[in-house]
Formats: sequence, C-alpha cells, structure tokens
Amino acid sequence: MSAPTQDPVEEVTQKIEELFFDDEGKPITKKAFKKLQKDKEKADRKAATAAKIAAEKAERDATNVDYSVDRYGKLPMNQSQTRTDTKYEDINTIDASRAGETVTVRVRVQTSRATGGKMCFFVFRQNVSTIQGIITVDESTISKQMVKYCVGISPESIVLVQGKIVKPVEEVKSCTVTCAELAIEKIHVVSEVNARLAFSLDDASRPESAYEEDPQLVRVNLDTRLNNRVLDLRTTTNHAIFRMQSAVCLLFREFLTERGFMEIHTPKLISAASEGGSNVFKVNYFKTNAFLAQSPQLYKQMCIAADFGKVFEIAPVFRAEDSNTHRHMTEFMGLDMEMAFNEHYHEVLEVLEDLIVFLLTNLKSRFSNEIEIIKKQYEFEDFEFLPKTLRLHFSEGVKMLREAGVEVGDFDDLSTANEKFLGKLVKEKYHTDFYVLDKFPLAIRPFYTMPDPANPGYSNSYDFFLRGEEILSGAQRIHDADFLTERAKVHEVDISTIQPYIDAFKIGAPPHAGGGFGLERIVMLFLGLGNIRRSSLFPRDPKRLEP
Ligand code: ATP
Repeated sequence: MSAPTQDPVEEVTQKIEELFFDDEGKPITKKAFKKLQKDKEKADRKAATAAKIAAEKAERDATNVDYSVDRYGKLPMNQSQTRTDTKYEDINTIDASRAGETVTVRVRVQTSRATGGKMCFFVFRQNVSTIQGIITVDESTISKQMVKYCVGISPESIVLVQGKIVKPVEEVKSCTVTCAELAIEKIHVVSEVNARLAFSLDDASRPESAYEEDPQLVRVNLDTRLNNRVLDLRTTTNHAIFRMQSAVCLLFREFLTERGFMEIHTPKLISAASEGGSNVFKVNYFKTNAFLAQSPQLYKQMCIAADFGKVFEIAPVFRAEDSNTHRHMTEFMGLDMEMAFNEHYHEVLEVLEDLIVFLLTNLKSRFSNEIEIIKKQYEFEDFEFLPKTLRLHFSEGVKMLREAGVEVGDFDDLSTANEKFLGKLVKEKYHTDFYVLDKFPLAIRPFYTMPDPANPGYSNSYDFFLRGEEILSGAQRIHDADFLTERAKVHEVDISTIQPYIDAFKIGAPPHAGGGFGLERIVMLFLGLGNIRRSSLFPRDPKRLEP
C-alpha cells in the first residue's frame, strides 16, 4: 500500500513555516536569519575541510601500499620440499654482453650501503668473486618498504637474488665483475647472520703495507682469526691459500700416479711408537693403549717388502712435540712416498727432485690467479728455482756456513737459524729458493737410515729446503733384517715393539728409499706466509685444539 501523498497547500505552508519560524513557532527575525545563514556556511566549510583531509589520507594510504611484498623477505628453512628448474648463475659468467637478461644468483652480502632511503648498493660475493647489486624505489615493483628491508640485511647473510644484468655507467672497480651489475628485482634471505661478526672481512684482508700507511686501521691478529676460523676462511686470500693446498696434493698425486706409483692408506692407530722417542700421542684402546702414527714410515716400507714397488700416501701425521714455533704443529698432512730402486738411492732422489720441480712449475703456471690474490695480502717474492735441482753434500753446506762465520761441527744437526742462514747463502750464490742437502750425518738420522760406507759418519739421506726451511726428509732405508735389528739396538729402540716391521724384511725386500713432505710447510714456504697455521685449515698445536 502506497503512503498517502501530502496536500500541496499543506506542503507549501510547512516550508514557509520552516523558513520563517523557529522551532518554538516564533517568527525568525532578519538578524536571526543571517546568523542561521552564517552557521550553515561554517558547517559547510568544516565538512569540506574534513572531506579534504579524508581524501588526502586515502591518497596517502594508497601510496603506502606495499606492492612488493612478494619480492622480498626471509625464505622458510630449506627442508628440501620443492625443486624448480631455476638456473642458479655463477657470477663469473655475468658480463656486459648479457645486459638485459634476468638471472638468479645465490650470494653472500659482503657489504651494503643505503643512499637517501630510496636506493641501496650491495657488494655480493660468491667464493672469491664479487658483483655489485643495486635496488631503487619505483612506482610499481620496488616499494620503499622493500628498499628499507634491503638496507637491514646484515653483512655475511646469504641471499637469493633475481636481477637484471645492467652495464654500469663506469667500471665497478671494487668488484671482480667490473663490467656488469645486477638491478635487483627480488631478494630473499636464505640464511641470516644471528651473531656479531668478530671482524669484518675487509679488516681481515689487508696487506701489511696498508698499516704502514695508516696505523689506525683495525688489525686482526692470528689468534683472533683462528678462534673465528670459519669467518676468516671466507676471505679471498684464504680461499686462494686452500686452493693452493689442494693443488699441491693434486699435483703430487698427478706426478706420482703418472710414474706408476700406487696410492696406499696405512693405519694411524698403531701399537707402538713407529719412530721411537716420546713425541707420540697415547690413546685408550679398549683394555690397552694405542698410539697415533708419527708417520707412515714403517708401513710404507712394509708395502715395498710386499713388492708394491712404488707407493705414496697423503694422510695425517701426529707429533706430540711441545714445539711452539712458526713451523710445527701437533697434526699435519704428510705427503709420503717410498720406492724400490735398482742400483742407487739417487734413482729415488731424482724422482723426488723432479717431483718438486713439477710441483713448483705447475703451481706457477696453473695457479697463477691464486698466487696473485695471495700476494696482494702477503706480499712475498716470486719463488726462484733451477730446472736442474741444486744438490749439495752436507759437508759442503757446513763449509759454506763456516766461511760465513758460523761455528758448526762436522756432524752437528742444523739448527733452524743455521738452516735459514744456509738458505740465504745458497740463494745468494746459486739463485735458487729450492735445493737439496744430501749425505746427512748418520748419528742425527733415524735407526732405519742406510749408512754410507764410503763416507764414514754420513748416511744415504737427504733433506729438501724451500726458502731455507726443511720441507722433506728422506733416505735409503735398511732392507736387511739383521742389519736393521743391529741399528735399532744402537738407537736403543725396543725391538719387540717393531717386530712385525723387522719380520717383513726377514722374508726378503728390495733396496728402497723414499721421503716425507709436510703439506702445510710446502704451502707456507712457497707462499711466504710466515706461519704454518696460515696454511692449515684448523691448526692443532700444543695450545690449540679448537675450533
Ligand atoms: P723439523 O726438523 O722441522 O722438526 P723433522 O726432521 O722432525 O722436522 P720429519 O720427521 O723428517 O721432520 O718430517 C718430514 C717433514 O714433515 C718435514 O720436512 C716437514 O715438512 C714436516 N713436518 C715435520 N714435523 C712437522 C710438524 N711438527 N709440523 C708440521 N710439519 C712437520
């Protein structure tokens, strides 16, 4: 039913009343009418202002909308739940010729720098390579919130970045990728840093010369580095050092396998101290004790008695020596070889000399990038060596020392100081950082060393030196069981503890010789690092068992 319509006369009367009479039915005066008019204008102005403010707020809210939420943030912990076909790029493959391409990289944030709240620059790192990344606020894809998030990502976090390859206006001199950079489109944190960094990688990567120019710069000492070794190992220099360490083993294997040697693995838990002496670690072994091998010496010789002919091993060696020096550790990697010869132990010595020349030549040619990187921090002189190795008789070395004013006996062992000084004299006279001393005094060598009857008091044994410090000891070994027993007695070795070794020679063994290098010594001396701990991943010495 429709509402009854109002009588038009009544309607007009009501409007007149509203216009000319107030709520109490009194006529509105002209003055009151004007006031009412003003009040209305005021109310209208107020409403207009409120509407304007509301419109402005709406606009502000609209611009604050984070339109980039899907482009940044922390990824959930990877629990291997999905696989995509995404290609993860090696940043070394990125260059200006690929400008315009969108790539995905997983990198570490080395540094980040915000400029004015709308932009952020990154240096991203992948192993030893770095590339610049840039993110800039725009109207539809990169929000202010996203850039703010970027600025807050801690250095050393691992991030997954999608970015467009851009040719920079100028070369990026601070990065290894100089001719391209990444315009960041997406950035997600894969692994964040939850601890305070003990030092910055910049501080840990400085050469000594930088401190001469500016002594105020932060210096990271060796102990701090070793206490925070994982962080320290991230420096470009350390990556290169351990690539060189790996290279030494690679080349050692390559050379020897090429020459028909066979790789062996001898026990490290043994029942007796292999070389006598007290520098052996004792460990519990069920109801008895065992010892950690001081070298593979006895076992590699036993393999020769087993007719393996030419063997080598790369394995840890344990020495319980309380030596707190720049070149001794309680655990190091031994590169050992042993070989049967036909007539003279020099057949073996020649193989060892060729091995070192091969090693030095190939380190220089195949690992020149690494050498250059390390040189930037450790500033060492190029390694000099002769194509035909210099071999001096021990007595010649003693003569050179004496001529230079050093008091030394004919059969004295070389002290570290004399060893280094002789290296200096050899370098001056023969221009080589690598040489061999042959025919060491018998009395200072282990019991299994073959004496040299033509040179009484001397033996068929040798040491190799790099930059004036020992890297290898080797010798012809006694392969006759009776003579071996006799010599062991002279050295007061308890025969019962080495009986299986002696027995190996009772059933016949060919004449043989060999030697053992210390891996970390080779790396330290070749690269002039000055301390063996720098060429050991997690060094062990009398004062350090951690990390
Ligand atoms: P050094 O006289 O320097 O103490 P060594 O004569 O005891 O050495 P060997 O037992 O002949 O050395 O060991 C062979 C090689 O092993 C050495 O030339 C060296 O390269 C390495 N080496 C020996 N001892 C250590 C050690 N404590 N730490 C690191 N490397 C070592």
